[in-house]
Amino acid sequence: MPFAEITRLSPNCDGSVPHERLGVVFHHSVISFDETIALMTDPARKVSYHCLIAPDGTRCTLVPDEKVAWHAGVSSFRGRPGCNAFLLGLSFAGDTYAAPLTDAQLASALEWLAPRWRQHHWSLDWMTDHRQVAPGRKDDLNPVEWTRLYAVLGNKFSQAM
Ligand SMILES: [Zn+2]
Repeated sequence: MPFAEITRLSPNCDGSVPHERLGVVFHHSVISFDETIALMTDPARKVSYHCLIAPDGTRCTLVPDEKVAWHAGVSSFRGRPGCNAFLLGLSFAGDTYAAPLTDAQLASALEWLAPRWRQHHWSLDWMTDHRQVAPGRKDDLNPVEWTRLYAVLGNKFSQAM
């Protein structure tokens, strides 16, 4: 059964710049689902993800895929700086150092990823997290949870889709 999905559009994005979508940066937001939505829709905060996933699997779309969300900041991946220009931002509400990702969060992430994976011909090589693209500056996700998530992605998407 699909997870519930709501939309709360954030003003914190770029609508008119060329935008590749080569993969995903995963995040956690530390704070709760509702607190994160409030922060992301505050124009003074200048931050946003494309999508946020609650512990019960409910998803909130904050920025349409077609626009650049402001999620990664100063970052680089596979030798390319500025990850916001080529990677979508998907975040889990909560703190992965305090509590593991829930089964519902993992399942909801797969549900969000599946059509995009097919559309953009993604591969595991282009999946990463904030800690890895901004080392020393950001620590999300907990490496233990990243390893678990990466295994789940591999299990779901390693076969040709
Ligand atoms: Zn982050």
